[in-house]
Amino acid sequence: MLPNEPSRIALIGAMPEELSAVLACMPEAHCENVAGRQFWVGHLQGHEVVAVLSGIGKVAAALTATVLLEKFQVKRMLFTGVAGGLAQHVSVGDVVVASELLQHDMNAEPLFPQYVVPLSGCAKFKTDEDLTRILLESARHTLPQVQVHAGLIISGDQFVASASESLRLQCALPEALAVEMEGAALAQVCRDYGVPLCVVRTLSDRADDEAHIDFPKFVKEVASHYSVTIVSEFLKRLPT
Ligand code: SAH
Repeated sequence: MLPNEPSRIALIGAMPEELSAVLACMPEAHCENVAGRQFWVGHLQGHEVVAVLSGIGKVAAALTATVLLEKFQVKRMLFTGVAGGLAQHVSVGDVVVASELLQHDMNAEPLFPQYVVPLSGCAKFKTDEDLTRILLESARHTLPQVQVHAGLIISGDQFVASASESLRLQCALPEALAVEMEGAALAQVCRDYGVPLCVVRTLSDRADDEAHIDFPKFVKEVASHYSVTIVSEFLKRLPT
């Protein structure tokens, strides 16, 4: 068991390209294998961090978060990744910081209203205000040429890659800025544990018929760079 440091923070990514950019800054990190995942424990910008790939989708993300909390005793979490843009005013290459997260494929009607996680009384899960503010400032400071938005991000077990599905989601959830596959699951776990979470996503596609074409190239060439830049600045600004 690791010593219980109050400040330990989890850095979670969905994509190997992103995690390897972070790990390159943590040469002394050691690896622990749990549930088929590699948890890298080390230091970055003076913070004790645990860096890990969440896997893709809500179950993989929820499992990863639970292991981080139970086995590695992290006290806060930062997720970085890519997402599909939904709102009309967001574009590929923009950065979106989540102020709240919702599972767009949660529907236990008529027992509970659509999107409400049964028995939680909650559809939109808020991210931590302080961490989110620091994350937003870090993104705006380090990427001044990039449009940085804050708002609702929606998650579901579906890679949205058609204009019709994207339109359906935009009509159903007009405030949603972006769609991805992990964030709202992390938010639900973090809420249950009372642990602060923040989430940043670079828009890799428009969640439309071109999404599968744009995606791999973008992750490699742009998102990994954005992610490591924002994470470094975030940790510099974060109180220990
Ligand atoms: N090509 C990848 C699969 C990525 S799935 C592979 O083979 O490993 C898409 C990932 O990016 C998920 O982690 C999801 O959170 C995010 N994402 C990006 N664009 C998305 C979209 N249009 N719809 C849903 N998730 C998207």
